[in-house]
Amino acid sequence: MATSDMATAEAAAPRGELDDLQKIVALCKRRGFVFPSAEIYGGFSNTYDWGPLGVLLKNNVRDAWIRAHVQRRDDVDLLDAAIITSPSVWKASGHVDNFVDPLVECLGECRQRFRADHLENLEKCPTCGGKLSEPRNFNGMFQTQVGPVEDAGSVAYLRPETAQGQFVNFLNVATSMRRKLPFGIAQVGRSFRNEITPGNFVFRTREFEQMEIEFFVQPGTDDEWFEHWVDAREGWYLSLGLRTHNLRRFEVPDDERAFYSKRTIDLQYHFPFGKGWEELEGIANRTGYDLGQHEQASGERLRLFDDETKEHVLPYVVEPAAGLSRAALVFMVDAYEEQLLDAAKKDVRTVLHLHPALAPYKAAIFPLSKKPELLEVSRKIYADLRTEWMVVHDVASGIGKAYRRQDEIGTPYCITVDFQTLEDQAVTVRDRDTMQQVRMAIADLRSYFAGVLQF
Ligand code: ATP
Repeated sequence: MATSDMATAEAAAPRGELDDLQKIVALCKRRGFVFPSAEIYGGFSNTYDWGPLGVLLKNNVRDAWIRAHVQRRDDVDLLDAAIITSPSVWKASGHVDNFVDPLVECLGECRQRFRADHLENLEKCPTCGGKLSEPRNFNGMFQTQVGPVEDAGSVAYLRPETAQGQFVNFLNVATSMRRKLPFGIAQVGRSFRNEITPGNFVFRTREFEQMEIEFFVQPGTDDEWFEHWVDAREGWYLSLGLRTHNLRRFEVPDDERAFYSKRTIDLQYHFPFGKGWEELEGIANRTGYDLGQHEQASGERLRLFDDETKEHVLPYVVEPAAGLSRAALVFMVDAYEEQLLDAAKKDVRTVLHLHPALAPYKAAIFPLSKKPELLEVSRKIYADLRTEWMVVHDVASGIGKAYRRQDEIGTPYCITVDFQTLEDQAVTVRDRDTMQQVRMAIADLRSYFAGVLQF
């Protein structure tokens, strides 16, 4: 590891106990997870581009979510709805009229804008102490024009959540997939909100990705299903290595819940900024509100026949709504550690203890030197393993540096080809977390990884 990359011993951050996001932001840029958007033009405020490793991480988070809640269940289907759809959807859902945040502006020196509901004191600007304006409502939906003529009739919106796609396709999915209650529709995709106060890196951006499930149930069974989904979603984060003490359930009180929500629990993560505890995901019992609204506005009956009661039922909906980009950030923050290996030499190892299911690369393969006979073997192992897993071949100058580079991006295994390999057809496999090395026959690598990389 280059000296400039090396944190000093005094500053070593124990796992998940960062003071702020600076080290994560720097690592993301340095190692290709997340870049400031349009950087060559001076950037674009609070806007980021996901780099090569960030895309892999985000895809792995998404895949783990689909695996747990679609592949390993028999009651949830996938959907990928349009981002720009009929404005009638947003009128009926209440977003055109009610998707508003109270905005206050500093009338003093700094002129900053804030969300009134995020401030403790509405008398004074938190930045410069100036007087604040009266709150006014600000609609968070991005508007656009569809077609060549710009008039009121061409106004459309970029979706501020994925969820409405599930509601308007409720009957399409139920009919085509021959579903009875209870069943769910899951969607992963981009959402857009004209946030007044984006910030804290990718925690809150104007363009972000969500993973939402709308789970349709018989009214009367909704409380039980609500509990089920809170447990399932909390369990999902923990199964991917998030540490229990950084995750908690927050029962959203009556006066903070949407009026149609019977109950909402936020899964909060203890972030290294602001108040610490912030929403990672919200699980809401939305009752029959959404389908009811769309029934009324569209004139279509959004009901399913119930064989037991012989009636057409307007289902209730339990919605676990998670942020994919926010979750990717949380997994990185929680996994980050600076290990002090040698205090005298101020040698600190930066490690991302990402769950192997989430790690961008599952393994890195190195030849101990650039000698052609070693390269030939390492390339062969690489060619073989990559048919099955996302792995990387790194012709490094120095094995120590190569290990550190992989530790920092969370690669769980490193495979080293050395001169002895040419004699015994075996390699060294190093574990990222324990740094233990074992000698293993090349012929056994596939079955070994098939075991440890089973999710
Ligand atoms: P907040 O109160 O933080 O604005 P919210 O309650 O409006 O969030 P939801 O509408 O419940 O958020 O969205 C579900 C999830 O989508 C959130 O828990 C979060 O993980 C993610 N999310 C919402 N807004 C953003 C954003 N601007 N940037 C990144 N992720 C977001």
